[in-house]
Amino acid sequence: MIYTAPLKDMLFDLKHLANIDAVAQIPGFEDAGFDTAQAVLEECAKFNEGVLAPLNWEGDKNPSSWHDGVVMATPGFKEAYQQFAQGGWQGLQHPVDFGGQGLPKTIGAFCGEMQQSANMSFALCPLLSDGAIEALLTAGSDELKAVYLQKLVSGEWTGTMNLTEPQAGSDLAMVRTRAEPQADGSYKLFGTKIFITWGEHNMAENIVHLVLARVQGAPQGVKGISLFVVPKFMVKADGSLGVRNDVHCVSIEHKMGIKASPTAVLQFGDGMESAKENGTGPGAVGYLVGQENRGLEYMFIMMNAARFGVGVQGIAIAERAYQKAVRFARERVQSRPVDGSIQASAPIIHHPDVKRMLMTMRSVTEGCRALASVSAAAYDAAHGHPDAEVRKQNQAFYEFMVPLIKGYSTEMSLEVTSLGVQVHGGMGFIEETGAAQYYRDAKILTIYEGTTAIQANDLVGRKTARDGGQTAKALAAQIAATESQLEKSGTVAGRSMAQRLKTGREAFIEVVDFVAGNTKASPNAVYAGSVPYLMLAGNLMAGWQMARAMQAAQEQLAAGVDTDFMQAKITTAQFYAEHIMSRIPGLRDSILLGADSVMSLALEAF
Ligand SMILES: Cc1cc2nc3c(=O)[nH]c(=O)nc-3n(C[C@H](O)[C@H](O)[C@H](O)COP(=O)(O)OP(=O)(O)OC[C@H]3O[C@@H](n4cnc5c(N)ncnc54)[C@H](O)[C@@H]3O)c2cc1C
Repeated sequence: MIYTAPLKDMLFDLKHLANIDAVAQIPGFEDAGFDTAQAVLEECAKFNEGVLAPLNWEGDKNPSSWHDGVVMATPGFKEAYQQFAQGGWQGLQHPVDFGGQGLPKTIGAFCGEMQQSANMSFALCPLLSDGAIEALLTAGSDELKAVYLQKLVSGEWTGTMNLTEPQAGSDLAMVRTRAEPQADGSYKLFGTKIFITWGEHNMAENIVHLVLARVQGAPQGVKGISLFVVPKFMVKADGSLGVRNDVHCVSIEHKMGIKASPTAVLQFGDGMESAKENGTGPGAVGYLVGQENRGLEYMFIMMNAARFGVGVQGIAIAERAYQKAVRFARERVQSRPVDGSIQASAPIIHHPDVKRMLMTMRSVTEGCRALASVSAAAYDAAHGHPDAEVRKQNQAFYEFMVPLIKGYSTEMSLEVTSLGVQVHGGMGFIEETGAAQYYRDAKILTIYEGTTAIQANDLVGRKTARDGGQTAKALAAQIAATESQLEKSGTVAGRSMAQRLKTGREAFIEVVDFVAGNTKASPNAVYAGSVPYLMLAGNLMAGWQMARAMQAAQEQLAAGVDTDFMQAKITTAQFYAEHIMSRIPGLRDSILLGADSVMSLALEAF
């Protein structure tokens, strides 16, 4: 199963949409201009195409396994992980002070996409480590940073995120794991966490669990949750590993997809004999991150990074599915083309409907990639730009986009991977073909790190209603500016795009007014359309980036640069406008007019 990193498209986005050379003006990123980005991406492509991609299919056939508390990764994964760590890939975006390379997210996001395309099950492990690093950087004490960060950044140890419990999924207010303060300032944790990605494995020598728990006597609900570091093996004063902590993997799940990624049930403090013998006694030793009862706040920082990362997973799996579908469509011979251009059965890529499917897959993938890359650049500016006002604007932009990148890119990845199966016909339904794996793997993306509905709640509540729709309207104004530039281009594709953008923007404003005006007074009416709002906004924002891509490609075309690529970009953007953005008015109508039919059926009638 071949994977070829879409370097050309990535470099186009970096240069013309994310403006990497402007990112390189930010203090600390001086060496991260276009040439560095290109060199890093090319190296990254080699590793992912050559090492991780060939293991993806193996992971599906031969998932990670559990025996007596020990989890063995798919054969080949451990060696690949060592290569990954030695290559410095874990530290790409992390601070130089802790051994990282300190590159901007604008570059890191593309490397993340390649890893996820190559092997999503594998790449989840470093993604979770990224989250743990982010949490420690944000809220960890100097002491915690000194013990854990370097090892996590180097990839010698891996990180996990322990939120979910049997009764606490979307609703983290229900977390019950308890933390008992100890005389030495540490805590002992007791409880069960479920669905913990890479919660136990043999790829690295230690695992650093970031765990949400309640300190005895803490307030009820989300205001009483604290965040702890719980290492699998205790760390001695000299940094070497000590005894096993009282956290154990009770089982791993059998899943529909991402089978090589072990999804663990972790028991904290079950008083196992080993813990008693080790002298740590029952209870998993944990160290408070930041202050008591502020755990969810810190976890949200970690989750924002992880939500962006999961959105990128959606783009990545869509890219992989697209590449596979194109290869098949060129080879599979079936039926004469309707236009009579070939007087015999021809490769199915000649059929208009197959081209429609491939164009849908391609345009959505490129649109979502463009949105993620521009948002990554906003993240970098929000963190490092010297001007406070610029930082603030970029932070608002990034925060608005995170639920869209997570929600829209992953929902669309289901459409794309489903089309990938469809292009293959009956062979798509047969596992050996490989198209089905992408479809099965993609399904988790709309569920973990907050379901699509939870992303939509964030978009409605925090990102739209809270500021009365101000941020959304500011984005609409920027979209209007792109429209007028495109109108001036005078091309058919440009005018078509400008028209769709205008229709989409006006629908977006209507919905934003509706959401901002009614969330308090008629919450059911607004939340009945929350996911359609997320899909509308995601569709429009990705379309806006495709419009900018079209503009840039027209300029490059006029200058005679890489004309085949630029022409294809213009056509792909035009397709996005005419076939994907054209869905926006329907979404608007469902949101503004459709709440009654969502809500009115009595519960007994279901
Ligand atoms: C393979 C896998 C890996 C995972 N990895 C991790 C991990 O590493 N760490 C971790 O902590 N967790 C992990 N999870 C857990 C995951 O984050 C949760 O499954 C997810 O957040 C949903 O919670 P839930 O399963 O309890 O579903 P529920 O919360 O029970 O949701 C069920 C349905 O109700 C809807 N719903 C719930 N509340 C609302 C609401 N307020 N508004 C609208 N709709 C709502 C949901 O959208 C969903 O459709 C993983 C799960 C899986 C399956």
